[in-house]
Amino acid sequence: MLAPQVTSARKRSNVTSRSAKEISASIDTCVHLCYPGSVKLIAQVKLQTTPEQLSALKQTMQTANRACDYISSVAWEQKTFKQFALHKLVYQDVRKQFGLSAQVTVRCIAKVADAYKLDKRRKRKFKPQGAITYDDRILSWQLEQSQVSIWTTSGRTKIPFVCGDKQSELIKTRQGEADLILFRDQCYLLATCDITEPEPIQSEGALGVDLGVVNIAVDSDGTVYSGKTINNVRFRHRRLRTKLQKKGTRSAKRLLKKLAGKEARFAKNVNHTISKQVVKLAQGTRRAIALEDLSGIRKRVTVRRDQRATLHSWSFFQLRAFLTYKAQLAGVTVIPVDPRNTSRTCPHCGCVDKRNRPSQSKFSCVTCGFSGFADHIAARNISSRAVVNPPNVAHDEAKAVEMHSVSMELRSSAVTSHPLLAGV
Ligand SMILES: [Zn+2]
Repeated sequence: MLAPQVTSARKRSNVTSRSAKEISASIDTCVHLCYPGSVKLIAQVKLQTTPEQLSALKQTMQTANRACDYISSVAWEQKTFKQFALHKLVYQDVRKQFGLSAQVTVRCIAKVADAYKLDKRRKRKFKPQGAITYDDRILSWQLEQSQVSIWTTSGRTKIPFVCGDKQSELIKTRQGEADLILFRDQCYLLATCDITEPEPIQSEGALGVDLGVVNIAVDSDGTVYSGKTINNVRFRHRRLRTKLQKKGTRSAKRLLKKLAGKEARFAKNVNHTISKQVVKLAQGTRRAIALEDLSGIRKRVTVRRDQRATLHSWSFFQLRAFLTYKAQLAGVTVIPVDPRNTSRTCPHCGCVDKRNRPSQSKFSCVTCGFSGFADHIAARNISSRAVVNPPNVAHDEAKAVEMHSVSMELRSSAVTSHPLLAGV
């Protein structure tokens, strides 16, 4: 089982060691890392800065990141990468040289140590306006007045913030640190919030959900959550994108950026809607949700070349992450099941054969002749596999492994390399 602190440490380093761009782009996909008993969500608020405050915050970020570069070069030269050892080496220097507060200095050292944890083979450099971390000593929240009091290199200042209804509910459960990020010349604070997970509902059976390419999701009751609109938008955008990339002018680049954001927001919205519906159905019928074990999905699904981009898109993984955290918040258990041959197995006679699936949408058993809609049959197989392993057996462990694989997948594929995110 993953210990809570391991998970939260990973999340922390995730946030601090990536650029503001990536954080903001992946904000809904990477933050729902949970451990049994509690769900961690990140609330995002937008700071309504005056021009002076904005420049003070930027100045602070730049100074902190310059300090990180300095710490990094000392670490690199001395081959000292552990936080405690680094602290002894650079703390006094950094405070004197960069005029940073004690707490910011500590966070900078931690950021550098975190960065080297991931890779010690090359010297780490930091983006001038990369995210910086604040704790309660240098950032205080005045929720009643919707404002924060925040430390900058030009002194402490009070800044009003705005956020949506959900975020403002969420922010009440805020704990500990927050990251300051700059995105499109706007400052945002990302605060970690801790929500206690409700007691899991005693479930009878499981609702199997098959996540796919043509149909985003199909459940074992036969409901199809179509991917048509999402795929249409994506196809249109991809064509337009190719055109714009060829053009390469400044205005084309601007348009590309806008396009990427638009598509991401659209997909996110669809994913929120679908995951909400699925979780509601499972909750209402007192069932767990069974999903294929993610690590196998990419290898298993064979798709035509023109569909591959869809499969590798981060929104595929986003839906999974949404399903998992929404289920947790609703007390619905999520059971990862063995994904092997779910689309080739006959639920009627148990025959496993590639030829059982003559086309993308059709299932037809070569042994007994049982036939039907392929994705629905896959979902039924997923559902029955979950029942074979009752939810209470090693439930926590399964979930921890599940969350781990989600986070790894998100990090290795979606967040860092997807072309969509490059422009966001
Ligand atoms: Zn059969």
